[in-house]
Amino acid sequence: MAQHFLRRSDYRDMSIASISAMSDAEIHSLFCRLRWNSTSHQACPQCGLWEVHYERKSRQQWRCKGCGRDFSVTSATLFASRKKSLRTLLLAVFLYVCSVKGIAGLGMCRLGGYSSKAAHVTTGKLRESILRTQDLTPLRGTVEIDGGYFGGKPRKPNRRGRRNDNVIANRIAGRKKGAKPWHASGMTRLNWNKRKNRRVVMVLRQQGRLGQGAVRSIVAIAQSENERDAAKLISKYVAKGAIIMTDESPAYVGVSLTHEHYAVSHSKEYVTAEGVHENQAESYFSRLRRWEYGVSHGVRPTYLADYAGEMVWREDMRRHTISQQVEAILGKALTIGHSRWWRGYYQGRRRGAEILMNHGLSADARSRMTKS
Ligand SMILES: [Zn+2]
Repeated sequence: MAQHFLRRSDYRDMSIASISAMSDAEIHSLFCRLRWNSTSHQACPQCGLWEVHYERKSRQQWRCKGCGRDFSVTSATLFASRKKSLRTLLLAVFLYVCSVKGIAGLGMCRLGGYSSKAAHVTTGKLRESILRTQDLTPLRGTVEIDGGYFGGKPRKPNRRGRRNDNVIANRIAGRKKGAKPWHASGMTRLNWNKRKNRRVVMVLRQQGRLGQGAVRSIVAIAQSENERDAAKLISKYVAKGAIIMTDESPAYVGVSLTHEHYAVSHSKEYVTAEGVHENQAESYFSRLRRWEYGVSHGVRPTYLADYAGEMVWREDMRRHTISQQVEAILGKALTIGHSRWWRGYYQGRRRGAEILMNHGLSADARSRMTKS
């Protein structure tokens, strides 16, 4: 039997030891190659002049022949105004890639030599680079769609004997006039209101050849798994003529109006005799769920889209070697410009709003595609 990809030696083509063995010049030219696709020519981030600029070698900077301004390999990138060395950044991306269920800010802080704030912002920026460059072109062939609920789970109430159950709580509340549902459930109001933070992660995954698993995926956050949002996502992200496989959720009753649609009843089986399943979507949720329980220990809606996008990237890149994954993320981080969501985060400039149904992302993906 063939060896599993993750056990093969050519998968492990980068390690902490190999990063520390690299010279500063090697790391610098790696960053240059990923930013400009060249180690000899640079584009000035101020005026855009593509040239062999005057090099200020000791500072690892260039002075532009056009506008005279100085720039470095990280000017006007996610890492602009960095204090960390390129080696530390490379190590951070390596640690990020190797943490297959995600890495907590404090985990990066311990392993990567970052302060907790810098680790939080750096991992946030890497997620931003993934989310803002998501390939949102419609999926083809056979597409699996499913939704999974994340976040918004109240703690168990303090007193035993009361049920932490919406149905029961609502029934008791309905019986007593003026009773509040959080009273009936034995929870505090604050705890009860955590339910408002529940969101559904909707994932669409294009199946590859038999045995290949999923080849490309798109994810979006919705308020609930409902027919209207499912239809919107399908019209945006699934090509005409594709086959759609889902479970028997009522959100997908209208799918057969626009696409060939097959459903598997999960109360009975995971794969029908005809081969209908959505196990690749389940595989995605399994990774995101393990991140939720084991790494983040809880998620609020504000950045759920970022984490969901991160896991889509990890799933779709799972058959790439470590250095391919490191270069893919570094390449994104060095080419999407300044951070919009994390620059000045600890100075109070925060995104604030959550990203629902990928609003505002497709424009980014399009502008990036025309550039490259
Ligand atoms: Zn210039």
